[in-house]
Amino acid sequence: MTTREVDVVVVGAGFAGIYLLHRMRQLGLSTQVFEAADGVGGTWYWNRYPGARCDAESMAYSYSFDPGLEQEWQWTERYATQPEILKYLNHVTDRFNLRRDIEFNTRVTGANYDDKTKRWSVSTDQGHKVRARFCMMATGCLSTPQNPDIAGLKNFAGPTYMTGQWPHEGVDFGGKTVGIIGTGSSAIQAIPVIAAQANHVTVFQRTPNFSVPAYNAPLDKDWVEHYKKDYPTHRDDYRQARVTSFGDLMNPDEFREVDEQMLLETPIEEVHEKLERFWQFGGARFMWAFVDTIASEEANRVVADFVRSKIRETVNDPKVADLLCPSSYPIGTKRICVDTDYYATYNRDNVVLVDIASSPLQTVTEQGLKTTAEDYGFDILVLATGFDAMTGTLSRMNITGTEGVPLNDTWAEGPKAYLGLGVNKFPNLFLITGPGSPSVLSNMIVSIEQHVDFITDMMVHMGENQYESVEPDPGAQEAWVAHVNEVANGTLFPKAGSWYMGANIPGKPRVFMPYAAGVAVYREVCDGVVAQGYQGFSFS
Ligand code: NAP
Repeated sequence: MTTREVDVVVVGAGFAGIYLLHRMRQLGLSTQVFEAADGVGGTWYWNRYPGARCDAESMAYSYSFDPGLEQEWQWTERYATQPEILKYLNHVTDRFNLRRDIEFNTRVTGANYDDKTKRWSVSTDQGHKVRARFCMMATGCLSTPQNPDIAGLKNFAGPTYMTGQWPHEGVDFGGKTVGIIGTGSSAIQAIPVIAAQANHVTVFQRTPNFSVPAYNAPLDKDWVEHYKKDYPTHRDDYRQARVTSFGDLMNPDEFREVDEQMLLETPIEEVHEKLERFWQFGGARFMWAFVDTIASEEANRVVADFVRSKIRETVNDPKVADLLCPSSYPIGTKRICVDTDYYATYNRDNVVLVDIASSPLQTVTEQGLKTTAEDYGFDILVLATGFDAMTGTLSRMNITGTEGVPLNDTWAEGPKAYLGLGVNKFPNLFLITGPGSPSVLSNMIVSIEQHVDFITDMMVHMGENQYESVEPDPGAQEAWVAHVNEVANGTLFPKAGSWYMGANIPGKPRVFMPYAAGVAVYREVCDGVVAQGYQGFSFS
């Protein structure tokens, strides 16, 4: 196969890849997108498990780059389902005529910088060889499911399904018995729906998670109309949220109070009143009722106790309630879950919770699972065991930079990227929402648009100045990574063995990967970098 030349290769056709392609087209650059799936959507293509929906609110979890698109699209529920988000992304792809530049069913197997030609050579499992000036990784933060290290997985005689690679035709649980491993966000959404269909469900829990009710509901048409009139203002709210931009600033009157109040400076009755108000409102915004929740152990305990009391109020069997109450890490240091009837599901006669922290899994058997205490049998096994987050997809892509240096070597002690966007010795390589940017701590769409816009502006700057390539300075990169760590160490985040820390993957370096200072601070930093002539980047 001959080598094709393009200006830009984009890897991935999820929210990031789609918007990138649109912006590159606007610059008049020839762009080739490679996508492993047979359709657009990224994480929303693969995660089709029962109950899958976004935990950021639909009106906020959509692009803002085109006012016409914003006005015409109609979300139907407060939290959009996976099928509706996929429909939206297909709509955007067709509306902007993007499909023709996307090669589907094609996985990138190598991205290698050639020092002589100053081009990226990108190869795929379909035998493509493409040479490109720019290489952009729109590969998502949660796109490589982890194959859990559980003995005997192949022994199981029945079907095994991973939440992150769910079959397109769906799974009929009617009349079946089901075993589910994992109790993270995916499981917390899937378990109530599976339990309502199946004969019996056994949930194997190693670590319980904190979850907040979604109170999902159909969107009121009048309210949507009213909200759409002021879309730009709402967008600014998400962008300027000091601590987070989860996309939950939905009720403008009540919830535009921005992330200022300290729990430890608030009378306890008022604390409880506010937590109750946020709990009743629903959604991940609950975590940000008080700004010190993620910084002070004392404040955090008050919030965690509040949620534990809600779990105990909901779950009838006190022993089961105890097992469901997290106690080994501060609330919010593992991603807060958002659910519909999760805890109440354990009141059903057909649901059993098995604590595999006290009686660990030994092996999967032909009929089910064996723990150190007991044997369990079921027809279907569901693995809701998470992802090799933030770096897993990049580490499997054979990326090499100048002098053939592998990205995996550069990142051997944890990911290093200036602003989470670019890596020294990897010229003209860009990461969208990479490690060292707010990414998974923010509304992903807000962060994706900001990164894509930053990169697009930088490319215009390069064109105006006839620069061929750009890469971060080693000093700027080191300083940024140190700053990201310093910010994380000023919070409680490092106290949990979370996927934010790489702790769910055996052997992965334990480094807090996202930037925890919030999207507004990060945006200010990026704007400052631009104002200083792209400080910290070297052009040639
Ligand atoms: P996760 O949060 O990493 O949860 C994985 C679960 O599997 C944990 O309970 C973990 O237990 C368990 N597990 C992993 N390996 C195991 C093993 N070998 N033996 C026993 N248990 C094991 O993964 P996730 O639920 O897929 O969620 C990942 C992230 O995706 C979320 O935090 C969220 O950011 C995103 N997500 C978002 C939505 C949404 O928008 N609503 C929905 C789903 C996911 P331990 O905790 O003990 O390791």
